[in-house]
Amino acid sequence: MDDIALHRGLIGQQGSRAALNTPLLVLDLDRLDRNIAAMQALAAAAGIGLRPHAKTHKSVDIARRQLAAGAVGQCCAKIGEAEVLADAGIGGLLITSPVAAPAAVERLAALAARAPDLMAVVDHPDTAWRIDTALARAGARLTVLIDIDPGIRRTGVASAQAAVELADTIARAPHLRLGGVQYYCGMQQHVEDFAARREAIVERTAYLKSVIAALRGAGHDIVIISGSGTGTHRIDLELGVFTELQCGSYIFMDRQYLDCDLAGTGAPPFETSLFVDARVVSANHDGLVTIDAGFKSLSTDGGSATVSAGSPPETAVFFMGDEHAALLHDGISQRLRPGDPVSLTVPHCDPTVNLHDHYHVVRGDTLVDIWPVSARGRAR
Ligand code: PLP
Ligand code: MN
Repeated sequence: MDDIALHRGLIGQQGSRAALNTPLLVLDLDRLDRNIAAMQALAAAAGIGLRPHAKTHKSVDIARRQLAAGAVGQCCAKIGEAEVLADAGIGGLLITSPVAAPAAVERLAALAARAPDLMAVVDHPDTAWRIDTALARAGARLTVLIDIDPGIRRTGVASAQAAVELADTIARAPHLRLGGVQYYCGMQQHVEDFAARREAIVERTAYLKSVIAALRGAGHDIVIISGSGTGTHRIDLELGVFTELQCGSYIFMDRQYLDCDLAGTGAPPFETSLFVDARVVSANHDGLVTIDAGFKSLSTDGGSATVSAGSPPETAVFFMGDEHAALLHDGISQRLRPGDPVSLTVPHCDPTVNLHDHYHVVRGDTLVDIWPVSARGRAR
């Protein structure tokens, strides 16, 4: 029997969340919509664009809500994500990781032919030429952003001089057009203390400005300056260099971001909307019960999950393996019995979402919809 068909039959029934089989990915719709509106309002107040990152949600439904709220498009980590969104009619796509594998370059050119406003980053002249050649075969053109390495050594040109050389190459490539630059300070996003994060971003932004000045000084038109994330969005808005934000995780607010003082106020400016609902499956030991969610339901690269409902918040969550975790708290095995529900705040949202086929969308305790994780597994 297919759970999802059974679950669909519960949509709209008061209190139906508690009747769902577990483990499952749960999304609180009102909180999601408030987060979407809050970030959009910040970007609008600053007079810049918001192109939220779809690597976080991989969802056509969420992308549509962000666009309806005023987003200029969607960022995608990989060509596979962009194909799924483009096929659903979503425009304004920017691929934020260099596309280098020959098969991926072919797909990029094919996508550019059917999605004329597609953009992608490049960080090396060789890749730029390879993309240009594929575009010629596909009869398409592509606007590219120069990815600038903020010092992580992950992707991006490593100096202002390399940026100018790449811009010169793009200017010579007949099927490429230079749209601007991308700058994502991945290492600074999760600096927990606001003042320390701000200091780091002020320093990194001075470097970004020097690269942009070098590009403009060499005669290149830099219109789009795309970057930022949930961790640094307020600081980036204050510094005023970006023309658009790429924030992703703000829609869900996972535990890692709850640990960060995002606004410098000590209070989170977004609400946690994403949960993994689980159940007690065994309660035979003092101070410990076992639940049905382990590594296959929750990504563990971000440390531990926390309990948001079903047991006190100070309950410790200890991963026990692929299918199980332990909840540790005095007297917990007297309070919770096999079959009892608990809800967890996820440690790191993006890889957790990618473990699930569906979002179970709730308002409070009522299931209101089921959405596919449309680009699940689209890592290529
Ligand atoms: N832009 C790029 C290039 C990213 O890699 C990411 C996330 O890793 C984001 C934006 C979104 O950042 P966040 O999830 O911190 O909002
Ligand atoms: Mn992430």
